[in-house]
Amino acid sequence: MTGQTAIANTYSRFPVTLVKGGGCRLWDDRGREYIDFAAGIAVSSLGHCHPRVIEAARSQLETLIHVSNLYWTRPQMELAECLVRHSFADRVFFCNSGAEAVEAAVKLARRRGHDLYGSNCYEVVCLEGSFHGRTLATVTATGQSVYQRGFEPLPAGFLHVPMDNVGALRLAVGPRTAAILIEPIQGEGGVRPVSQEFLMEARRLCDERGILLMFDEVQVGVGRTGTLFAYEQTGVTPDVVCLAKALGGGLPIGAMLARDEAMVHLPPGSHASTFGGNPVSCAAAKAVLEVMTGPGFLDKVKDTGAYLQEGLRSLATSYRDKIADVRGVGLIQAVEFAHPVPDLATGLLEDGFLTILSHARVLRLVPPLIIEKEEIDLLLEALKKRVAALK
Ligand SMILES: *Cc1c(COP(=O)(O)O)cnc(C)c1O
Repeated sequence: MTGQTAIANTYSRFPVTLVKGGGCRLWDDRGREYIDFAAGIAVSSLGHCHPRVIEAARSQLETLIHVSNLYWTRPQMELAECLVRHSFADRVFFCNSGAEAVEAAVKLARRRGHDLYGSNCYEVVCLEGSFHGRTLATVTATGQSVYQRGFEPLPAGFLHVPMDNVGALRLAVGPRTAAILIEPIQGEGGVRPVSQEFLMEARRLCDERGILLMFDEVQVGVGRTGTLFAYEQTGVTPDVVCLAKALGGGLPIGAMLARDEAMVHLPPGSHASTFGGNPVSCAAAKAVLEVMTGPGFLDKVKDTGAYLQEGLRSLATSYRDKIADVRGVGLIQAVEFAHPVPDLATGLLEDGFLTILSHARVLRLVPPLIIEKEEIDLLLEALKKRVAALK
């Protein structure tokens, strides 16, 4: 199709052109309908073209689209106020993507480290298997060498410890450490929840040393797990949280939330983003938060998430030789196969379902949070046939 060869070849794409969406359904240019269990990689949490998101964005588009952060705008102030009201944080830095939110957190940790403990305090301790983005700093924080290869030299100051290895974490944290950076549930790395014991030890080490515990909730924040923030279910409150994907209801926006105690280390001029906190994205994000914090919304996410997990577990019981594990929280669920299943997502696409394959062996399901049990049943039925046919 004209245009394909004009796009940088950085993605291997499924052979479909999607032209329309509504709720949990998508349609391609041949009129074929799909049920969406990918949600634009955990972005379209209210489904496609949610009326509240459209209305908020449309009325903002007709009023004021952009002025920069040299001035105050109402949507940005209202969104910040809403995020602060629903979280531990006192202030929000707005940007446009997940990588930018994590980048901001890393810069905050370094400035704070330098201010409080001197210029040798800059290290960020990260986890193996993590994913934090594709900029040079965030790809270095990412604990997967496959994303780093060929981009060396990488920025200094990032260490990696194995997930859930409390002893390794204790050894890694020292006088140079400015922060510990954790995805409470590793998303891209294969939907792996970090143990509560490990998170509590990270909290304890950060308290003891006066350094920052930073959660990357770019994928699992904003309702995905059945609470507005994933940290609410861990028993551990971080000092910094990074958000993006689901926040804008499909419009690009990122946010880095922190307490005043940390945020004072980013004074005027220390960090910036021209588009950050754009009025249209902020208006949409505020509508997203209003819907998600409305009566029953998050309880339903927990309920449908449990239903999906139950269905996957029962599939795993029928195919013990093929399925190694089922895991997840709320509506981020995964099936780990015993052997690589490189064609599974393409097969499911042919069946009319969008899903995400991670690392050739893990099927990641992150549907819109408004998914219904009937739609889950349809996916489980198609998946069962595909699993039965696996060699
Ligand atoms: C997707 C993701 C990012 C990067 O977000 P972009 O918007 O693609 O820059 C960072 N961290 C986590 C946990 C993610 O899932």
